[in-house]
Amino acid sequence: MYKKIRTEGLVLKKIPSGEADYLFSIFSKDLGKIQVLAKAIRKISSKLKNQIDVLNLVKIEFVQGKGNLILTDAILVSPFFSIKKDLMRLKISFKILEILQNFLPLETKEERIYKISLLAFKKLEKNIKPLNVFSVYLGFFWIFFALSGYGVDFYRCFRCQKKLKKGINYFSLKEKAIFCKICYSQGGIPLSENHIKILRFVTENFNLADKLRAKKDDLLDLIKLSESYLKSIEEI
Ligand SMILES: [Zn+2]
Repeated sequence: MYKKIRTEGLVLKKIPSGEADYLFSIFSKDLGKIQVLAKAIRKISSKLKNQIDVLNLVKIEFVQGKGNLILTDAILVSPFFSIKKDLMRLKISFKILEILQNFLPLETKEERIYKISLLAFKKLEKNIKPLNVFSVYLGFFWIFFALSGYGVDFYRCFRCQKKLKKGINYFSLKEKAIFCKICYSQGGIPLSENHIKILRFVTENFNLADKLRAKKDDLLDLIKLSESYLKSIEEI
């Protein structure tokens, strides 16, 4: 008999495999990102079918097969229904799932990232203001990359190490850091005092990221910055 392993996790992705199987990518609490094969799950009668799907939080049970981990049971914990009913929240949630899918190492427990990911989805599931969907995403984004070794110091200039002054500072995608007015070289993205305040707030007080009051334009600028940052990391 194979030993059964139980954990809970967020379903990141499903890939059809063979005639009736799905390979699920799951960010699990105890083993980090894992890939689990669900056999015959695409058949109408499969009891697992309604439990396990992308963006669901599930309790799972699986065994180590010859090649893959094989799913033996799945129980739905949360389907995040409110997120799935709202296009903007769904879009942002899929961005989070994509980051987890693309950047988490396989089978490496990531306790802190697991916690902030769940917290992000719990916040998005609540009836928050549309602008706070962005602030929750920004908090998740910059904390995730800080925990993954791509953190950015929002307090000091990368070159001279002096405290960032009020007014405009610059974000360098090339060096993945912020520079003061004096140290900055060409190509930096200007960051206002408000931009930096928002980044500090959402990363230090992620618990309150859904309560932040900020201007829409500032949040949208930072969403754009995070998109560019993501691209610059993908190119590494
Ligand atoms: Zn400087």
